[in-house]
Amino acid sequence: MKQIDLNDINKLLGIRLEKNDIFKFRCHPGVSCFNLCCRNLNLFLYPYDVIRLKNNLGISSDRFLDDYVDVVLRPGSHFPEVLLKMSGTEEKTCPFLTPGGCTVYPDRPDTCRTFPIEQGAVYDAKTDNVNRVQFFRPPDFCRGQDEETEWTPQTWANDQNAETYNKMTLRWYEIRRLFEDNPWGHEGPDGRKAKMAFMATYNIDGLKDFIFNSTFLKRFKLKSSTQKRIKKDDKALLLFGFEWIKFYIWGIQSKEIIVKK
Ligand code: SF4
Ligand code: SF4
Repeated sequence: MKQIDLNDINKLLGIRLEKNDIFKFRCHPGVSCFNLCCRNLNLFLYPYDVIRLKNNLGISSDRFLDDYVDVVLRPGSHFPEVLLKMSGTEEKTCPFLTPGGCTVYPDRPDTCRTFPIEQGAVYDAKTDNVNRVQFFRPPDFCRGQDEETEWTPQTWANDQNAETYNKMTLRWYEIRRLFEDNPWGHEGPDGRKAKMAFMATYNIDGLKDFIFNSTFLKRFKLKSSTQKRIKKDDKALLLFGFEWIKFYIWGIQSKEIIVKK
């Protein structure tokens, strides 16, 4: 998902899809391009992608971040992103690709499950909302676009179990937008605040440890129902992490985080 300026929206490549627009597509092992799309990618992972993948692999967040991603700061950006490392082979295949297909298929990233639709996020200053825009944009070599199966963006999202992913990515973009202005001040992007924001975004095990095994609960009052929820559900914990980032970096109050007197 890219942050898109409203003025640039009609200059983008691909066919913009509105809610009820129809596109034709079908991917199956019989296509001549089978698996060609899973190589040499700039595959940025969103925070919820990282949770699903590291849980699928049964490894810790630290290990996932060490072994599977590069952390990159794009020019003009103030918050790092994580890019899935492709294999070191000549073909630079995705580390999860096998001849039989994707080994993490039930937990594949949002970008993979939404493909051949590409998503973008547009901020509407009038309503103060971040809205999703979608483009049908298969690469030229993708023969799935020659097939006759018809979809709307919604029926495609349902078919790919992408709803939760799409919602979580949009929630992340509501926070991500706030980083457009440099929030780090004299600390810079390697300072204490930036490290905390990165952990709360991409290291769910670290966030859980911070909340339950530091002085956090002595300093902040969290309802017992919230504590239970975020202890057992990583998605709820990530959403709590987004609230924490807003509070910690910008002082935006949250009903869930009360400073103890
Ligand atoms: S390139 Fe398109 S049709 Fe071919 S495997 Fe990938 S998604 Fe399927
Ligand atoms: S995660 Fe799966 S679907 Fe996505 S690029 Fe890798 S192999 Fe392909």
